[in-house]
Amino acid sequence: MQLTQTYRIRGMHCASCASIIEKSLGKVVGVGSAEVNYGTESAKILFDKTKTNPQGLSKVIEPLGYSLVIPSASDMGMSESEHAGHLGLNQSKREKLAELAAMRTKIISIMPMTVIAIVIMAWGILAEFEVVRGIPETWNTSFNWLLALMATYALFVVGKPYLLGVSRFLRYGKANMDTLIGIGTSAAFVYSIIVIAFAVQLRAYVNVDVTYFDVAIVVIAFITLGKYLETRAKIKTGDAIEKLLNLQAKTALVLRDGREVEIPIGQVVHGDLIIVKPAGKIPVDGVLTEGTSYVDESMVSGEPMPVKKIVGDSVVAGTINTSGSFTFKATKVGSETMLARIIQMVEEAQGSRAPIQALADKISSVFVPIVLVIAFVALGVWVLVGAQYLGFSQALSYGLVSFVGILVIACPCALGLATPTAIIVGVGKGAREGILIKDAATLEKLHKVNVVVVDKTGTLTRGKPELVSFQNQSDKSDADIIVILASLENKSEHPIAHAVVSYAKEKNIGLVPVEQFDMIKGKGISGMVHGVQYHVGSAKLAAELGAPLAPLEKDTREGKTPVILAAEGKVLAIAMVADAIKPEAIAAVKDLHALGITVVMLTGDDKNTARFIADMVGIDDVVAEVLPEDKLNKIKELQAAGKVVAMAGDGVNDAPALAQADVGIAMATGTDVAIESAGITLLHGDISKLVKAIRLSKFTMRGIKQNLFWAFAYNVVGIPLAAGVFYPLFGWLLNPVFAGLAMAASSVSVVSNSLRLKSKKL
Ligand code: ADP
Ligand code: MG
Repeated sequence: MQLTQTYRIRGMHCASCASIIEKSLGKVVGVGSAEVNYGTESAKILFDKTKTNPQGLSKVIEPLGYSLVIPSASDMGMSESEHAGHLGLNQSKREKLAELAAMRTKIISIMPMTVIAIVIMAWGILAEFEVVRGIPETWNTSFNWLLALMATYALFVVGKPYLLGVSRFLRYGKANMDTLIGIGTSAAFVYSIIVIAFAVQLRAYVNVDVTYFDVAIVVIAFITLGKYLETRAKIKTGDAIEKLLNLQAKTALVLRDGREVEIPIGQVVHGDLIIVKPAGKIPVDGVLTEGTSYVDESMVSGEPMPVKKIVGDSVVAGTINTSGSFTFKATKVGSETMLARIIQMVEEAQGSRAPIQALADKISSVFVPIVLVIAFVALGVWVLVGAQYLGFSQALSYGLVSFVGILVIACPCALGLATPTAIIVGVGKGAREGILIKDAATLEKLHKVNVVVVDKTGTLTRGKPELVSFQNQSDKSDADIIVILASLENKSEHPIAHAVVSYAKEKNIGLVPVEQFDMIKGKGISGMVHGVQYHVGSAKLAAELGAPLAPLEKDTREGKTPVILAAEGKVLAIAMVADAIKPEAIAAVKDLHALGITVVMLTGDDKNTARFIADMVGIDDVVAEVLPEDKLNKIKELQAAGKVVAMAGDGVNDAPALAQADVGIAMATGTDVAIESAGITLLHGDISKLVKAIRLSKFTMRGIKQNLFWAFAYNVVGIPLAAGVFYPLFGWLLNPVFAGLAMAASSVSVVSNSLRLKSKKL
């Protein structure tokens, strides 16, 4: 049984960890694929349940210093995956906070030592330039012992994770960033210990007055500080999910045996009658059965005005009742609620990998071994070649400085953080704005879009057409005709159908049974009423049926859509349906134009009607009277011409076109979300959010590119500098202390740059 599950991973410290874990898991029998993300510290694993299990998988990576967080699925009747989603997150956050607190204690303890080490170091350097007097000979020895003591604490207490990295490398041959830091700092430490322990014997060969305890102390302090700041910032990148989770009510007031009882949210079952008091949170999705109220749905739909709810209306979890109280019947609980699905989608999107990350991933997976080789080569070259010019003692000293400097500066951390942190922030920001993004790849593709194809009904217009005129051309009474028309339309889901049915309802006209109902794609419907075969649909349909029709030019030029009832080759009635333009559509089209994007309207509606609407909202390219498959072909045509196409539609009959487009955008109406169908779902069916989504994508991609650039640039410059490549030319050599500072700064600046996205105005 193949199963895809996402687990959080403990113990990840660097991007190279991701590739180590991926490779190790991938080798396990029964694992189809493993995708590990450093940004979210999670692994998406496809595995065969009969061949392996999460516990077994965790065992595989435990020797390497990692483990899977396996949720226990007992509480509150939640499913296992739901549990992984909800509690797993809180748990990982709790762990992260505990980790932060532990790191802080370590940093506080090592800071005074760092200051002492820096003062001594600075003294030495200033003395060299004869700014101050040199450290007295007698003090020097005591300083050395003091530094040795502090370095021991730094390395074995604060730097323990790095030493573990070294021991894992020695035992399993797997190296990550911890290994690099560990080898670098312990090399400095061991060399220094040997020098002071065997000062007498070594004096003839090396400068025994120079030790590197200070390097070990300061590097470990800076890197731990950098990790601390990075972890703190990373927690912030994920707070969009937390805000969504906080929308969830903890308890529900249900009617059980005629009594009101408050129960934990997890115990609510389908059919429960739930009471919502004024200002109360709605705990699960359901349908109002008693009372009326206004509900603030802004957190879920983005619609700022509270929505009136009467009996029969649906309510969704996470929204807030304003005044009045009501009772509703639970229809969706636990992971079925819309809020749960949104949270799941956001989490999955945040954990998914953007194609732009591929290069960085490839680099960081080979980076660590390559850096190790470079460090040893640099050391060797210094000792062998440098000795001829500088003498052995000086060359060894510089070689060691290079060796440590390279290992410390070359952490691929910033590279690994560059993409995921920006994606997490971008997707999270989108969710807060009512823009639900399916995965990182979609967010990436969106910034390249240069043609937006929009469906008319529901996208540019409200999608709530109204029947504005009715013309009876038969010998039956108006009421009889409306009965037939409305009964047929009652079977259809099309917005036009709703207009006709509502009209009949308003007139208190009852419906009759329909037999052999059928849809005629892109044209209308057909069915039998009282033994007569009827057709309802567009003028085109009527023409095809051979029913002559007076020209409708005037009405269609005003943006109205004709609905024709025909039978036996004759037109019986013409109803005119009009759909108001969404006020935000005009501004949105203008904004899209400003972004250099061409807007094309595709519709199955009448040519004149389409043209009218297009002119109203400022669209230049209109393709009308198209069948759903022609919509698909039009998109293919644009793509063949080299365009990157986004298609925005209502997601129901536009599904094939949405799937064909480079980015499919579903316009969700109200609180009904067609999450699965499209790459992007715009809540509240708001076309202006499409502009925001594109801007979000552009900001996010710009952030990623900046991050990647700086992360690459930093290593491209840092490694040769640390290796001493510029020494023969300019006499430049990087003090490992600065390497430590630079490496800490690089990760922190990448995460901060990503966090900047949060405050960008869309
Ligand atoms: P669009 O979503 O662009 O309106 P559709 O393929 O849904 O395109 O419909 C195309 C046209 O077919 C509509 O404009 C309408 O004229 C006609 N039509 C489709 N379904 C119905 C229906 N149930 N009742 C009346 N007309 C319909
Ligand atoms: Mg449609």
